[in-house]
Amino acid sequence: MPVDRLLPTAEARDLLALTRDVADKVLDPIVDDHERREAYPEGVFATLGEAGLLSLPYAEEWGGGGQPYEVYLQVLEELASRWAAVAVAVSVHGLACHPLMAFGTDQQKEDKLPVMLGGAQIGAYSLSEAQAGSDAAALSCKATATDGGYTVTGSKAWITHGGVADFYNLFARTGEGSKGISCFLVPGGTDGLSFGKPEEKMGLHAIPTTSAHYDNVHVPTEWRIGEEGQGLQIAFSALDAGRLGIAAVAVGIAQAALDDAVKYSQERTAFGKKIIDHQGLGFVLADMAAAVDSARATYLDAARRRDAGLPYSRNASVAKLIATDAAMKVTTDAVQVFGGYGYTRDFRVERYMREAKITQIFEGTNQIQRLVIARSLATR
Ligand SMILES: Cc1cc2nc3c(=O)[nH]c(=O)nc-3n(C[C@H](O)[C@H](O)[C@H](O)COP(=O)(O)OP(=O)(O)OC[C@H]3O[C@@H](n4cnc5c(N)ncnc54)[C@H](O)[C@@H]3O)c2cc1C
Repeated sequence: MPVDRLLPTAEARDLLALTRDVADKVLDPIVDDHERREAYPEGVFATLGEAGLLSLPYAEEWGGGGQPYEVYLQVLEELASRWAAVAVAVSVHGLACHPLMAFGTDQQKEDKLPVMLGGAQIGAYSLSEAQAGSDAAALSCKATATDGGYTVTGSKAWITHGGVADFYNLFARTGEGSKGISCFLVPGGTDGLSFGKPEEKMGLHAIPTTSAHYDNVHVPTEWRIGEEGQGLQIAFSALDAGRLGIAAVAVGIAQAALDDAVKYSQERTAFGKKIIDHQGLGFVLADMAAAVDSARATYLDAARRRDAGLPYSRNASVAKLIATDAAMKVTTDAVQVFGGYGYTRDFRVERYMREAKITQIFEGTNQIQRLVIARSLATR
């Protein structure tokens, strides 16, 4: 049964109905096979782009959907309830468009944004390096100033959609320390840019995660977003918004696990009755439902603050922490509800559990979210 959502407009209700339809007809029939074969979902992003679902929170004047974050995140949640890997890639695309939208010049926006937001392109975000994940300020990929731009040398790691994306947000060192990092937008086919083989991951099998290698890559000045040295500020600003996307993805995964567990518990019998009618198991399901509802409420609260133009960085960290921990607990409990069958690949719950785990790690681990929240308390 669809989630009973409180949506702000009739347009938002239509959008959620369209998303469910696309999820039912395009994602659901192929997700299991693609995840098992680790096969890229060819054509799926084009379909999502044509349906207008790739750039929903961006202004219509630039080719976006003009939707509030509150609505965009619920669309993302619906996509994730069918196919987390696809929803993560959509969220990362949104993350990759943020720097240009928020920090680009008018000229850069006119030149690039309509294409980036138009639905035919997909973006990637490359901040992490092999030795600089949580501690992003320790990154070492270097952009050396040259005539008319920069020469970039070094490697980035863990890029969602690496090797497939049309454009890459690159964060590279142009000086010393945390104020010595700059942001660039690099097209996928640029000379000297190559990608490693996809990581062999626990989940999100259908979307590649790769390293990227910059071998004396010429990056013109016009590809730099914001001022030289502003890179980390831009990266963190994008991550505030991106973390809400990951919170919504986590809720989608948890909702799917809850739905499957409830259905199974109404069919499976033990000791002469449906397992849902054993109070011990009914209470497990009740706790799962409470966790999903409260996680959704937490990300919606942060999204509404963002939509109202209020500071929301702390709320985004709270939402990411609560929603992803909830997803891990709920998906683990869903496997328990299925008993031995939950531990097999015959049912989706084992996949949900593997997918939930990464949401606690990327776009700032949950330890880092606690660090952000604790700092906000200390400076209150
Ligand atoms: C599937 C996948 C997709 C990804 N996609 C992207 C992407 O598209 N773009 C991108 O830029 N990156 C991406 N990443 C990278 C991801 O954001 C990093 O893995 C993450 O930020 C953690 O960095 P790390 O792996 O280097 O762990 P580390 O930073 O080495 O952390 C190791 C452990 O130490 C803990 N820790 C570190 N510092 C502290 C501290 N100060 N206090 C307490 N605990 C601490 C961490 O919480 C963690 O448990 C992706 C990663 C994966 C696995």
